[in-house]
Amino acid sequence: MGMTIAPSHRNQASLKHPVSSPPATIPTPELVSEFSPIKTEEAPKPPETSSPIDFPTISSKRIFTDLENLAFERYSESQREQARQYIIDQLEAAGWETQQQEFEEGINLYGDRPGTDPDAGTILVAAHYDTVAFSPGADDNATGVATVLEIARLLKNRETARSLRVAFFDKEESGLWGSLAFAGNEQLRANLKGVIIADMIGYACHIPGCQSYPANLPITPPSNKGDFIVVIGDAEHLPLLNTFNSVKTEAIASKNIHTSPVLTIPIPLKGVLTPDTLRSDHAPFWYQGIGAVLVTDTANLRNPHYHQPTDVVENIDREFFLGSAQLILNSTTTLLESHR
Ligand SMILES: [Zn+2]
Repeated sequence: MGMTIAPSHRNQASLKHPVSSPPATIPTPELVSEFSPIKTEEAPKPPETSSPIDFPTISSKRIFTDLENLAFERYSESQREQARQYIIDQLEAAGWETQQQEFEEGINLYGDRPGTDPDAGTILVAAHYDTVAFSPGADDNATGVATVLEIARLLKNRETARSLRVAFFDKEESGLWGSLAFAGNEQLRANLKGVIIADMIGYACHIPGCQSYPANLPITPPSNKGDFIVVIGDAEHLPLLNTFNSVKTEAIASKNIHTSPVLTIPIPLKGVLTPDTLRSDHAPFWYQGIGAVLVTDTANLRNPHYHQPTDVVENIDREFFLGSAQLILNSTTTLLESHR
């Protein structure tokens, strides 16, 4: 998760965090940064699926192994190269062919698994693999990378109408450079029917009042603790966002697979009035008019280890992380099996 991008208008909750310059393509609001999403329950329901989906199950052994292997500082060229090699090895072991997108500031990795219906489009699931300096980035964002790797393993041989693309972005922390390069490439963004970004999905807090909110947040949180996962999406693609509500119900109905409680927040106007909602790799896709969601534990609004040397595996809530990863897997599977 990147730092607050509108320094003079940032929310109270972000005041203690350092500031970076926004990439040139990100609009900087002139006036307010009031966090004003629409209430979730007013959003249209997603299309009904005909029968419950038989969701695969995240392997806790594999996902925690990935988390432990990736939780090192991934800031310098050689550190990021080491992370890339780990990702490539894991993808290849799962039968994927890895491609590289080189851009001026770094290297993105991605892979494709074709669907059965070439007209049904592609779902992209992605996470950034770089860290800030001096942080091992267990939550930020080894949790996201481990989740995308496990989804790649579980869905490699599953036949679905839509194609699956997975991607691992470089240089998110320095200004979303990897996702800007990816979304800016016509070929790589072609046919995308939805983008899911996982960025910090493994931290929970269980003391009442431990979760902070931006000022004037007009929604009712599901809990007075920080024990839920947040999914934000652009208000122009509500069925994509609402998939994250519907799969929870389906999972419970079918196999009682554990998923984390979810708060979905639609963001109007591509976040121009809410710059704190533009701090990760979904934002460049919004600017291209592509539906995208960010799945997050809310970063510095909850996690005191945000961008610190203490962002280590020991501070990850294992059950919460597993439930968040399962939620992303269920949503991805649902979207892949949809024709619309
Ligand atoms: Zn970050």
